[in-house]
Amino acid sequence: MSLDVDTLQFATLTSRGAYLAVFIVVVLRQRNEIYLWHWIASVIVSILTTMFMMSGPLGGWMTLSQGLVTYCGFGTSLALTWSGLRLFYGRSVAPSHLMVLACLPGILHTGALLVGLSPRIALALVFAPCLLTTVLAIHECVRTRAGDHLWSQYIIVAAMSFYALSFAASLAVLVATDLPMQTEEAARMSLAVDQVSGILVHFAYLAMSGERASLRLGRLAQTDPLTSLANRRGLIETLRRTWWSKWEGQPVGILMADIDHFKSINDRFGHLSGDEVLIAFAGLVANTIRRDDIAVRWGGEEFLAVLPGAELEQTLAIAERLRLATASCALPLAGQTVRVTASIGVAMMEPGETDIGPATLRADAALYAAKAQGRNQVCRNSPVRKAEKRDGLDEAAFGADKLVA
Ligand code: GH3
Ligand code: MG
Ligand code: MG
Repeated sequence: MSLDVDTLQFATLTSRGAYLAVFIVVVLRQRNEIYLWHWIASVIVSILTTMFMMSGPLGGWMTLSQGLVTYCGFGTSLALTWSGLRLFYGRSVAPSHLMVLACLPGILHTGALLVGLSPRIALALVFAPCLLTTVLAIHECVRTRAGDHLWSQYIIVAAMSFYALSFAASLAVLVATDLPMQTEEAARMSLAVDQVSGILVHFAYLAMSGERASLRLGRLAQTDPLTSLANRRGLIETLRRTWWSKWEGQPVGILMADIDHFKSINDRFGHLSGDEVLIAFAGLVANTIRRDDIAVRWGGEEFLAVLPGAELEQTLAIAERLRLATASCALPLAGQTVRVTASIGVAMMEPGETDIGPATLRADAALYAAKAQGRNQVCRNSPVRKAEKRDGLDEAAFGADKLVA
């Protein structure tokens, strides 16, 4: 298959025009996402540069002014991809760095011709900074932390690698061989590379912003907005992701913690102060559990912690640490120092159980026992006492031992 230069240039222009139209629609909905503006600017500069190249003669070396405009345009389009990626990942962009990467290809080309270097060397000096920018763009993608990886970022990596390879190959041909570079064949090759890489890059821009938006929405739906702990949906999702890979065959401890007489905090200090207590208590739960444990706002002033790999003794120790931390925490509320306590029920997953549901019910029953026995204490569910129903106490149906306080 042989495509002529006009067809390739037309395809480049029309495809970029289409991306631009889609981008404008996307950016209108997300005006505060600065990285999108960088990527839009990259597409616009790329369109203008292609139009400028189409207006000039084909083949032959570029003149000083043609080279300056074309290679500054090309460099700017690449540099804006790099800066957009940095902003996308929450990193800052120094305007001076952006300027240098944008203008270096055009300035080096012009400077080389002005000092009398050959057009071949001048062109090689265009490809070197372009290669640098593509490598920097790849670096921005691959240095993201494992948890922040997006599938779509690898499309950008592929496109930028394709660009980088073609720049490196051109550089090698210019420096190490006498092969002619200003032929129609060479123009066709570079336009074809640009066409393929351009399609990948522009689809990746859209895919990356879409993928991240849907991940953020998913995280929001799984997070309690007041305390930032996982909600029940977040727990289900975490269990679905980690259960079989991490927990199979391990003991799993469950804590169910409830703030004592919380309603009176609301009644005395108001609902907003009650919220502050909830946030502080959530912080204590999160700081008391271990790294791989899961803290969940179960509902109202009730919190659940799932402790994979924790035996009963460790689960009880963590529960007691949480109880003590709560009782010793002084909260400034409405000009007063307020102290709260928490009651905590502890249960273990039993052999043969494949989800935390039954253990959660047992922890809840133990919590109920802790409340019934005076609050500010840790009770454990004890299956051995299942048969010893105590008069009138529901918790005895499961059995619950007061352990501390
Ligand atoms: P106990 O010691 O038996 O647990 O008593 P309690 O007062 O803590 O429990 P109760 O179930 O009687 O009251 C819980 C209160 O928690 C009632 C509800 O209005 C309040 N609550 C639930 N969710 C929120 C919230 O998000 N913010 C605030 N401020 N209060 C909440
Ligand atoms: Mg309560
Ligand atoms: Mg409650």
